[in-house]
Amino acid sequence: MHCGKPLQREEEEYCQDCGKRDSFIRQGRGVWLHRGKVPGAIYRFKYHNKRRYGKVFASEMERHCGKELKRWDIDLIIPVPLHASRKRRRGFNQAEIIAEELSHLTGIPVRNDLLFRIRRTRPQKRLGENERRQNLQGAFAVKKTQSLPSNILLIDDIYTTGSTVERCAKMLRLAGAENVYFLTVSIGQGT
Ligand SMILES: [Zn+2]
Repeated sequence: MHCGKPLQREEEEYCQDCGKRDSFIRQGRGVWLHRGKVPGAIYRFKYHNKRRYGKVFASEMERHCGKELKRWDIDLIIPVPLHASRKRRRGFNQAEIIAEELSHLTGIPVRNDLLFRIRRTRPQKRLGENERRQNLQGAFAVKKTQSLPSNILLIDDIYTTGSTVERCAKMLRLAGAENVYFLTVSIGQGT
């Protein structure tokens, strides 16, 4: 299991999204499937300033995925960045809040000044997979002066097709990280 999405057939090793690309991600998990009460909770967290949800999400990450976190031997947590203009408008980066809470819980350090979103992008929601990838071309950059530790954990709120964390993982790998993992609050059920 690569991204942890439920598979259509048990004998499959990869979901459809993971199966059709070479991945820069070693492994990842989402705490919940993106259904039921989960999308609403994430929406309120992002747009109605429910920062305390971040604490809940992080502790659920640790509860559900603590075993993976130990196995992956994470050196550093990095939240998926927002573009500075979007972060200003929203007032915070939701991934950053979760990452910071998870760092408190696990003792693993967190850095939000290594990976940047340098280009504004259209919302991914209504885009197809190819458009998503194009939309993210040149969107992220890693600070040049830093040497990265071996095992990095990316944090985001939602994993849909994985194009965003893939793009981030690619930049981190090109900058010298050996293994990139991810945890998200929710994960799509695949197609
Ligand atoms: Zn997958």
